Amino acid sequence: MKRSIFLSHLAFAPLMTLPMKMNLLNHLTSGSESSERMPMLFLGHGSPMNAIEENEFVAGFRQMATTLPKPKAILCVSAHWETRGTFVTAMEHPRTIHDFGGFPPALYEVNYPAPGSPELARKTMELVSTAQVSQDLKWGLDHGCWSVVKHLYPKAEVPVIQMSLDWSQGASFHYQLGKEIGALRKKGILIVGSGNLVHNLSRVAWDRLNESGFAYDWANEANETMKRLILAEDHPSLIRYRSLGKAIDLAIPTPEHFLPLLYLLGAQEKGDELALFNDKAVAGSLTMTSVRIG
Ligand code: ZN
Repeated sequence: MKRSIFLSHLAFAPLMTLPMKMNLLNHLTSGSESSERMPMLFLGHGSPMNAIEENEFVAGFRQMATTLPKPKAILCVSAHWETRGTFVTAMEHPRTIHDFGGFPPALYEVNYPAPGSPELARKTMELVSTAQVSQDLKWGLDHGCWSVVKHLYPKAEVPVIQMSLDWSQGASFHYQLGKEIGALRKKGILIVGSGNLVHNLSRVAWDRLNESGFAYDWANEANETMKRLILAEDHPSLIRYRSLGKAIDLAIPTPEHFLPLLYLLGAQEKGDELALFNDKAVAGSLTMTSVRIG
């Protein structure tokens, strides 16, 4: 049986005792030390409606998924889970959280029943030594995670855990945490950061929502600056994003949609290839620009 299938079956094995599960899971992960590094994805998630619409961004997510090795599980850092301290979801069956308001009923009916992975949560907590990472049994999958992961794996067969953003910490903290969880890539784990490079909801051009690719000058400038720094692997400048000027200040009025990128940059290693996709603006003040690393 394939390991990924085995892992998802394990979540549905209520008759097994905990020690039995742990033994099987240790067996599961022990043989995968030498596997290739998994790529990582920063996904611009944009509007929650991308979860149910057919559009070029959804097509881009689907196309990207066809080029990836099948992961054993996914660790997702979403812009929409901010906490004091860092947490990882550790329940066997994370709920689908509809953390938005004012959308059509169809969006609230979406359920993404991917299993969780208490084992991956435990392994993640063990890997991080410079900060305390605690387990969470209440959250689940917020729309930053499920609205994009559902397009990568529509059958919801790949286990998913989320890692929260500690709002009390600065950029270098998040970059360092990314460095420490990077070892998961060699265990077949797909690390996903879900946010948006340019994300300023107070400046959305509501009257130009349907104008394909429309961006204000500052949004274009900020997006180009971030892309250039990402492709040049200039991580120190991206960590010090608050000193990159007015366009970046407008693009990142609050840090939560940008910070998931820093986890991936922290986990980036020499030789990882970089590729951009879905590189397009929406409604003037958002960009969907997504990045594959590795
Ligand atoms: Zn968002």
